[in-house]
Amino acid sequence: MELEPLQDGHGRLIGDLRVSVTDRCNFRCQYCMPAEGLPWIERDSVLTFEEIARLVTLFSSMGVHDLRLTGGEPLVRRGFPRLVEMLASIGGIDDLSVTTNGFLLQRDAEALVRAGVNRFNVSVDSLQQDRFYELTRRDALPQVLAGLELLATFPEAHPIKINAVAIRDFTEEEALPFARFARTTPFEVRFIEFMPLDADQAWTPDQVLSGEEIRAAIHEVYPLEAEPRERSATARIYRFADGHGKIGFINPVSEPFCGDCNRIRLTADGRLRTCLFSLNETDLRGPLRGGADDGELERIIREAVWLKELKHHVGEPGFIQPARSMSAIGG
Ligand code: SAM
Ligand code: SF4
Repeated sequence: MELEPLQDGHGRLIGDLRVSVTDRCNFRCQYCMPAEGLPWIERDSVLTFEEIARLVTLFSSMGVHDLRLTGGEPLVRRGFPRLVEMLASIGGIDDLSVTTNGFLLQRDAEALVRAGVNRFNVSVDSLQQDRFYELTRRDALPQVLAGLELLATFPEAHPIKINAVAIRDFTEEEALPFARFARTTPFEVRFIEFMPLDADQAWTPDQVLSGEEIRAAIHEVYPLEAEPRERSATARIYRFADGHGKIGFINPVSEPFCGDCNRIRLTADGRLRTCLFSLNETDLRGPLRGGADDGELERIIREAVWLKELKHHVGEPGFIQPARSMSAIGG
């Protein structure tokens, strides 16, 4: 049943839902999780596949058309391809994507493509094995690249995007190798500015390597031309002027794109977040398990979304980092 479109109090229509299917992860990226991991959400508190499917169905009837599955590491959730299959069959979802660290892609790429994932973002922060290990605390680059290679054999999975977090005094060295990678492979590379969502709460503004700095460094060697920005897009995309591939920059810190943000998030334990940097969350699991009907859930969702933050305040005096880190929110 079609319902009124989901809209916030600033007139923004919500079309994009990111669902964290687990807070657990097999990596320990410095900018996200501590080396020893985090206290995981109790298994009973994690939404079941059926609960996720019910909420996604409701969101889709309110106009959500893009669904991204993330985590933690979504591929460590047991039976994940079965969840994808359930969600792919929900009417109105026309884009079903997964963000993954790629470690289990060799095992799961085929099952995920068959189940209906039509876009993949794979996180790779360095193309050098030792530096990849330094950042992720896992010696896993060869396995991730092998997974990517396998994924690339499925035409349905393209375009495949590679995400690299941009950190000062680390990523400068990665800029040109990633530019060459983007020019010589079918993958579109995007740099994401380091955000204050690390579990260690050690982020400082000077650790952010801005997208503009990387763009300028690449442009000197391989000239770039800007593509028009699509509405609600997070990335500024550039094509190499000689026609060999594309590269993108997600600049939430230096060039926030809150103005036309159409995204909301659902955590693995069923809490709705209207911004990555939200300081409060709305519990949907309690009402869901307490027997709320769709009308009641719809009312709770609309009320929460109406209060979606106008913008984030990263870098401003008084900014407060959310208690949950990126892996627990669902990036
Ligand atoms: N585990 C999967 C992965 O790494 O792709 C999915 C979840 S991860 C939280 C989603 C994305 O958030 C990844 O691309 C990761 O690099 C990014 N990320 C994590 N912490 C970040 C931070 N503090 N600043 C910017 N991006 C971050
Ligand atoms: Fe795990 Fe992704 Fe966080 Fe790295 S960024 S620790 S892979 S959730």
